[in-house]
Amino acid sequence: MLIDYHLHTARCGHASGTMDQYIDAARQRGITELGFADHIPMYWLPPEKRDPEIAMQEEELGEYIQEVCFLQKLNPDLGIRLGLEVDYIPGCEAAANKIISELPLDYVLGSVHYLGEWGFDNPLYVEKYNDYDLFELYMQYFDTLCGAAKSGMFDIIAHPDLIKKFNHRPQDELTPLYKKVAYVFADSGVCVEVNTAGLRVPAREIYPAKKMLSLLCKYGVPVTMGSDAHHPNQVGRGLKKALELIKEVGYKEVAVFQNRKRIFYKL
Ligand SMILES: [Zn+2]
Ligand SMILES: [Zn+2]
Repeated sequence: MLIDYHLHTARCGHASGTMDQYIDAARQRGITELGFADHIPMYWLPPEKRDPEIAMQEEELGEYIQEVCFLQKLNPDLGIRLGLEVDYIPGCEAAANKIISELPLDYVLGSVHYLGEWGFDNPLYVEKYNDYDLFELYMQYFDTLCGAAKSGMFDIIAHPDLIKKFNHRPQDELTPLYKKVAYVFADSGVCVEVNTAGLRVPAREIYPAKKMLSLLCKYGVPVTMGSDAHHPNQVGRGLKKALELIKEVGYKEVAVFQNRKRIFYKL
């Protein structure tokens, strides 16, 4: 059993590969259940300000859904799920919910990629880390992430310590922040994603850090996994390592989703 619930395709403007190519790659790498999770259109911005290299356009959403549904029928032997990666933008929940509620999704991945207007995971704006006290920045990031969990909009919270992407790490002990996140995630009933893209960036570490994942496990937060592939070559990458980590911290099962309902696979 190998799950990859975080696949992007060319539609988002910064990934390459067709859905067919992703499915072929998944088959070759023994993925048993895969989920497309392309970026939601930038609903929080007026149409003229939406960057076509960050997310698909609103008019592409229908095609995206149709293509996944078509491929599900064409590949009945594989579990192909329809997901969407949705940015959490405090104050814009209604606009996101309007889009999400109209789609036949299997799951919604909630992500924090912005603090205010700063896209902190975008290499173009990496200098901005220098303007911050890193511990305060991490606090702000984890507070926003807790807001995402509490919003009730998401089934899964993606890459839950993405703020470490470029390896800017505070000296301070992060355990108190991790504990708060674990408590809020458990209380709000969200699942956490173990995301292997962290291995491919300067942080050189799976999202989340082992210490954080242990606490999430201890507090009873369910777990699922994804490669965050932006190219068919990246499908399934690092997932065996992710599965080892998941078992090592004490998980006995992983979550999958259908029609936004959670099901568990025993490990
Ligand atoms: Zn993301
Ligand atoms: Zn992603």
